[in-house]
Amino acid sequence: MKKAQSLIFFTFFFVQLTFAQTHYIQCGRLFDAQAGLMRNAVTVVVEGDTVKEILEGYPAATEGALVVDLKSKTVYPGFIDMHVHIESESSPTKYLERYQLDPADVAYDAAVYARRTLMAGFTTVRDLGGSGVNIALRNAINKGKVPGPRIFTAGKTLSSTGGHGDPTNGNKASLQGDPGPKEGVVNSPADARKAVRQRYKNGADWIKITATGGVLSVAKSGENPQFTGEEVWAITTTANDYGMQVAAHAHGDEGMYRAVANGVKTIEHGTLMSQRTMELMKKQQAYLVPTISAGKFVAEKAAIPGYYPPIIVPKAIKIGAQIQAKFAEAYKMGVPIAFGTDAGVGFHGDNAREFRFMTEAGMPAVEALQAATIVNATVLQRSDELGQIAPGFKADLVASDENALEDITTLERISFVMKDGKIYKQ
Ligand SMILES: [Zn+2]
Repeated sequence: MKKAQSLIFFTFFFVQLTFAQTHYIQCGRLFDAQAGLMRNAVTVVVEGDTVKEILEGYPAATEGALVVDLKSKTVYPGFIDMHVHIESESSPTKYLERYQLDPADVAYDAAVYARRTLMAGFTTVRDLGGSGVNIALRNAINKGKVPGPRIFTAGKTLSSTGGHGDPTNGNKASLQGDPGPKEGVVNSPADARKAVRQRYKNGADWIKITATGGVLSVAKSGENPQFTGEEVWAITTTANDYGMQVAAHAHGDEGMYRAVANGVKTIEHGTLMSQRTMELMKKQQAYLVPTISAGKFVAEKAAIPGYYPPIIVPKAIKIGAQIQAKFAEAYKMGVPIAFGTDAGVGFHGDNAREFRFMTEAGMPAVEALQAATIVNATVLQRSDELGQIAPGFKADLVASDENALEDITTLERISFVMKDGKIYKQ
């Protein structure tokens, strides 16, 4: 009896391990992210969660394989957004929510935003700061419990006291307390190292710092430097010890320059970036993540009375309006560009609007597509498995009805989504 049971168990286990559904995905056009061109009439063979091969034309499928007809569509590697906040999104009541929502409430919201992001064609995101629910969500998605993009998350942001990421900004005195490294508030190199190690302990993949003031914090300046060079150096060197890289929110140039000079890998927004900082970014292969979508969103909402607290309105108008033009300048200067939206500042699921904003500012559609695929995979240090449709890569494929090289807005209406070989939208 015992023997029979274990045999049944073993057989079941074996079948589970070896059964991998094969898909033959017939593509009208396929974006080759490495070559930067469209291929016509090819079939992508997917086995389990991995791309096995790409065949010319539409050959007959092997027995048991599922055929997916995308012959009228254009297929791309699943898009990667380097800057989202998956736990929350914009609303006029957002500043009250931190006193009203429990982590369980945040978790249900986050699951909705994750699903929306995936259905918009973004199969991977880098989450740049939340309460820690982002780590639990990443794990749940990886286990297949919740549909959503593959998440690389920073957990909680690191800030200095009163800085853009201080979680108690704007509170009355009795609710301000004195948050420390555990909550992400650091004021010395020693604090900085402790905070990074705490993120590692919590399960973060990246470290996010707020190198300058920001628009949406309840604080006066949107651009002042908020870390010393020594603090940034302590953060980046400790992060690197633990296999993590550092992303820095930055609008003002001084804090941005210090961040790049001390080893930060990506600059988020980059609004007031000087020529000097651009040269340094080129030299150090640091990437600008433009987040034009967020700039436009906050400038637009700031015009609605009461949407934001009064202290935020002038910052949103001034900073929001400049981001697209600064991106245009940085692109022309040859600064490395990654694709990121800051979704959460706006609405989740609108991520693909960033493609339109990037091309409006002078970046060719091919390069915008590469930024969201092969470039972002490189920044994530996953260029061997993400960002391309090629043998051995993760089977992340999305499709639009039109050819994005002719109409970039077609990416705002994604009609097919596969992630890890599983179809989520068809
Ligand atoms: Zn952000």
